Amino acid sequence: MPNYLVVRSSAGELVDGETIREETRAAAATRLGTCRSMTDYPRVARETMERQDRLLAEVQQRYSIRVACSAGCSYCCHGIVTARAHEILFAADVIRKRYTAPRLGAIIERCRERHARIAPLRTAVEQRTVRTACPLLTDGRCGAYEGRPMVCRTHHSMSVDPCRQWLERSDETSHDDHQHQAIFVQGNSVRVGAYAAYESAGFDATLYDLGCALYEALTDPRCARRWKDGKKAFSMVCRALE
Ligand code: SF4
Repeated sequence: MPNYLVVRSSAGELVDGETIREETRAAAATRLGTCRSMTDYPRVARETMERQDRLLAEVQQRYSIRVACSAGCSYCCHGIVTARAHEILFAADVIRKRYTAPRLGAIIERCRERHARIAPLRTAVEQRTVRTACPLLTDGRCGAYEGRPMVCRTHHSMSVDPCRQWLERSDETSHDDHQHQAIFVQGNSVRVGAYAAYESAGFDATLYDLGCALYEALTDPRCARRWKDGKKAFSMVCRALE
């Protein structure tokens, strides 16, 4: 049984999940310290996400992991999608650059519908039982793949059936139980490390639902300013993990 908490870093030494978390935190903290304007922050988010992608690719190769996920499979894109404000602002940045005005308008409308449906849900149980497509989901694929939040980059399944059942049952079950431990640990080590860096720098540490918060991010420029000032960026709060 391999030790899934141990992977080889790009420098060649063996590192564990805690080390990855700390390295990510330190790297993100350093980069955040160099940001001078709002246009600098997306680069930090992108670098952190690329670090996560790289580590996940490494760990899959190292342990010869074959996940059941494939292009067009999107069961897991139908629940609450947890993200921090900096990830949501990064996704909004990617979306604005990627889409023409009519397509952007269609995404905003889907985000608005989600916001109207989900934002009033106040309890963890209500939010955990949500089964509504992420507004970025288009023909079974992510419409903002390079800007998707870290939870989406880490999430995977070793079997499709539990994901299908999760969507059909609409109860409180989680679809996290069928993940590979190595991917789960490494992906979340990066995520927690990055979150710690933003939190230490004084940025909003609230968890949001991506689609709901995107509606605000794409329609109200004050959200980004609030975030930069260390305030709560969006109105909706994600309680699904409580
Ligand atoms: S952001 Fe993309 S990957 Fe994540 S839930 Fe939405 S459509 Fe799926």
